[in-house]
Amino acid sequence: MYKVKEVFYTLQGEGAQAGRPAVFCRFAKCNLWNGREADRANAVCQFCDTDFVGTDGEGGGSFATPEALADHVAAFWPDLQQGAPFVVCTGGEPLLQLDEPLLAALHDRGLTVAVETNGTLPAPAGIDWLCVSPKADAKVVLSTCDELKLVYPQPLAMPERFAHIQARHYFLSPMASHQVIAGDDPFRSSNTRAAIAYCMAHPRWRLTVQMHKLVGIA
Ligand code: SF4
Repeated sequence: MYKVKEVFYTLQGEGAQAGRPAVFCRFAKCNLWNGREADRANAVCQFCDTDFVGTDGEGGGSFATPEALADHVAAFWPDLQQGAPFVVCTGGEPLLQLDEPLLAALHDRGLTVAVETNGTLPAPAGIDWLCVSPKADAKVVLSTCDELKLVYPQPLAMPERFAHIQARHYFLSPMASHQVIAGDDPFRSSNTRAAIAYCMAHPRWRLTVQMHKLVGIA
């Protein structure tokens, strides 16, 4: 049974695929926080701004088979004969649930499959675009990916710790306070300046911002 918080159609807002139309499939559950505010202070990952608890979001639900979930996801793409149908599997932590049968079912429907993971779990073979975003001191077990996207700064997860990871793209994403909407966030502004300075001093890294929040889409 696959547990999905929400499924929606939007534009990818971050990283190398920013601006690309995408169906987002947000899986329920994460292995670094249970999603309850009362437990945030004791979680491995403490700055999460995503609601991944339950299956009650728009397009969410429980799906008994890979085919049922793949059909549901594919139905969000406007016309599978046009464009480059693209699904971003996110969470929560998608690799708690995404497996080879589901990947195959998504591919069968013509979807290119991207995954955004915290990197702490093995990834099934066949993912088309893998984005690893390490969190705090959680051990990262993935050593190759398409993009390494680091929320910055994280005292326990600074870029030097991940120098061994082979990626096509290296991005810093300024950390925002989880209590404040992005546009007015002074915490974000100072973090953005710090991320810019780091990228300019270490030009393997590039800045990515949450475009979807700036332009007001989901
Ligand atoms: S790893 Fe991602 S989904 Fe899990 S708590 Fe951290 S930011 Fe949220």
